[in-house]
Amino acid sequence: MALTGQKIAVVGGGLGGLCAALCMRARGADVTVYEASRGFGEVGAGIQVSANGLRVLRALGLDPSGAVRSQGLTLNNSRGGRVAILPNTAKREVRLFHRADLLALLADGCRAAGVEIAFSTRLTPDTAPAADLLVAADGVRSAFRSHVAPAHAAPSYAGQTAWRALVTPPNPVGEAGVNVYMGAGQHVVVYPIRGGTRINIVAVDDTGTQTPEGWQNATTRDALVARFAQFGGPVPALLTRAEEVNRWGLFRHTLPHRWSEGRVVLLGDAAHAMLPSLAQGACAAFEDAWELARCWDDFADPDTALGTYERRRAPRVARVMAEAQANATRFHHANAVTRALGHSALKLGSRLAPALFERRYSWLYDFDPTA
Ligand code: FAD
Repeated sequence: MALTGQKIAVVGGGLGGLCAALCMRARGADVTVYEASRGFGEVGAGIQVSANGLRVLRALGLDPSGAVRSQGLTLNNSRGGRVAILPNTAKREVRLFHRADLLALLADGCRAAGVEIAFSTRLTPDTAPAADLLVAADGVRSAFRSHVAPAHAAPSYAGQTAWRALVTPPNPVGEAGVNVYMGAGQHVVVYPIRGGTRINIVAVDDTGTQTPEGWQNATTRDALVARFAQFGGPVPALLTRAEEVNRWGLFRHTLPHRWSEGRVVLLGDAAHAMLPSLAQGACAAFEDAWELARCWDDFADPDTALGTYERRRAPRVARVMAEAQANATRFHHANAVTRALGHSALKLGSRLAPALFERRYSWLYDFDPTA
């Protein structure tokens, strides 16, 4: 309880902000979360949390076992033919959440721990409350990023749009795994959530038509079906049942040249929004949250604490961002020959050297942020 008496303000009650609030509170700080919205409302959709992120949740005393446990990742071609399987071992656990359930898990944990939450409060660097530390977890359009790193480059459109929808299957699906269908310039990710009573779909499309970054862009099921017409296998039937289709324009972000200024520090998407192709944005925010609380607790000098946080986090986050970018290319080979070659390499790799294939991601999934 070394942070007893410290006042921590967290801007943003999203996944990263709530996790940071809990990490700070667990070390004894008085924490208030300031959230712009009127309440916790997440767009209906799924989110994968891999072992590295789950370790943080469990270390905070949260139980993620209500979410579907994924059996593994299956890569398929556009017709539904299997290309490669990456099974999940006990150590490589992945949980498939409805976003609202994950947010509720964190929010309930915050309330039980005595974290204050102020809704309908949109803060800017000019209206920030006095605090020993202000954690800016205000997401991809952070109001604090330019205050901390004024020379930071603006994000550039990545040439891709993610379409997101849920499907209610006629009967709960038994198969609990993540399937990726890879086509020319497009891929579709499908996985069950809420005990298989809902299916989450993220369909990513190479397109020059820029869409804003955020889920405010509603579109139609017909547009989704028409846009992803190249896919066979189970995909067409799923798309025709899609509910509440939204689009999110994908932008390339670079890491800010600094993560803190005075007593203001960036966390989660505010620091390092990334492409979703590796399903790691929230996991990285959870890792940040644990490390920031540890550094703030371990070092009496604020500059040393925040500098150490940045030094420990930035190289790993940069690697995760690069791998997400590589997946965005890997999943989308537009040229038929390159695609066939890429899929053959994946198939051979997963069949002939599954251990090697698995070890390729050890640095990512076997990492324990709480160790
Ligand atoms: P957010 O969750 O965006 O939260 C920011 C909060 O701050 C919001 O509640 C907002 O209302 C509030 N806010 C904003 N401005 C202010 C202000 N000025 N004052 C007060 N409050 C403010 N990650 C994974 O780990 N696994 C996945 O499977 C995965 N899938 C994804 C799929 C897609 C299509 C996309 C786009 C992303 C995906 N991600 C995934 C990434 C993940 O969603 C984000 O990295 C994560 O939500 C970031 O959390 P955050 O708290 O930093 O930001």
